[in-house]
Amino acid sequence: MRTPNPVARDYYGILGVSRDASDDEIKRAYRKLARQFHPDVNPDPEAQEKFKDINAAYEVLSDDRKRQIVDLGGDPLAPGGGGMGGPGGPGGAGPFVGFQDIMDAFFGGAAGGSRGPRPRTRPGADAILRLELDLNETAFGVEAPITVDTAVLCTTCSGAGTAAGTHLATCEACGGRGEVQSVQRTFLGQVVSARPCTVCQGFGTTIPHPCPTCAGDGRVRTRRSLTVKIPAGVEDGMRIRLAQQGEVGPGGGTAGDLYVEIHERPHDVYSRKGDDLHCRVTVPMTAAALGTRLTIKALDSEEVVDVKPGTQPGSTLRLRARGVPHLRGTGRGDLYVHLDVRTPTKLDADQERMLRDFAKTRGEEVAELTKQGGFFSRMRDAFNGHA
Ligand SMILES: [Zn+2]
Ligand SMILES: [Zn+2]
Repeated sequence: MRTPNPVARDYYGILGVSRDASDDEIKRAYRKLARQFHPDVNPDPEAQEKFKDINAAYEVLSDDRKRQIVDLGGDPLAPGGGGMGGPGGPGGAGPFVGFQDIMDAFFGGAAGGSRGPRPRTRPGADAILRLELDLNETAFGVEAPITVDTAVLCTTCSGAGTAAGTHLATCEACGGRGEVQSVQRTFLGQVVSARPCTVCQGFGTTIPHPCPTCAGDGRVRTRRSLTVKIPAGVEDGMRIRLAQQGEVGPGGGTAGDLYVEIHERPHDVYSRKGDDLHCRVTVPMTAAALGTRLTIKALDSEEVVDVKPGTQPGSTLRLRARGVPHLRGTGRGDLYVHLDVRTPTKLDADQERMLRDFAKTRGEEVAELTKQGGFFSRMRDAFNGHA
């Protein structure tokens, strides 16, 4: 199905439509390809070339006269082919029509959101508040008082924004449409693009007499006190959602939600990993060797635990279900007690002698440090072969 003229471009092929395609099919094919290859949405340089071809094909096939030339085997865009070829032609280097404007030209703005005046009443934004809690509060829950700074409904005008006894007026600049149109001449023909009306900010209405309390916004900022129920077992970074306690929207629109973000203050004894708690307890070397009994202060109880004779440094005792209660379900995490063994320092003469005797009975050789040289000089002598 090649055209008899070898220089004529295959415009049907570029759009991927058959020779008997209807105007609608051509339009649809162009729209689909423009979505794919418009430089606004596809930064690939090859896409830019492709987009030029697509534009050329659409320009030709959407124009009955030019399409006829193609069907007769000619190329209306070829130099001397009866086409335009001048500046502003699709092969020219002129700026592209914006992607949105192309979409708008086809859909009457459907691609960029609905046209017409925008509503004065709109939903409010969510708000977030940081709440610092102690480990005891996150572990067992608390009813925390919070102060919230958000927009609330203006009670003077109930959100309408107008002073008592007055009403909104239709904007004279845009006739209530909320937008003003400008016409751009392009290869697609005239592309009508619309911009929000600057007089009414796109609302289509103005407020001749704004409410004195909110100046027409329908809402005012205020500080409120609330109590938020924190469930047991929450963790640092979790958010509690309070429905519709966020910002009231413009024009008194439905309030957004308020999120209370939990921040757990570091505890001076326990560190928390999930629902498990960890702490360190130091025991003297003698207690680690002989074994002992410790009283551990857990979060909400006192626990007596036995340290077995011969306990090594770094040993861990696990107290089941003495950690943080699980947020979901029942039960609690565990409490891990990490044991540090403290070596005695500053022994007096008696203690030192006893310890040396003890070492001797154990067959553990303990070299005696000289008063002058000390440990390091003995090391050096050892390396020099003087020891
Ligand atoms: Zn008001
Ligand atoms: Zn207006």
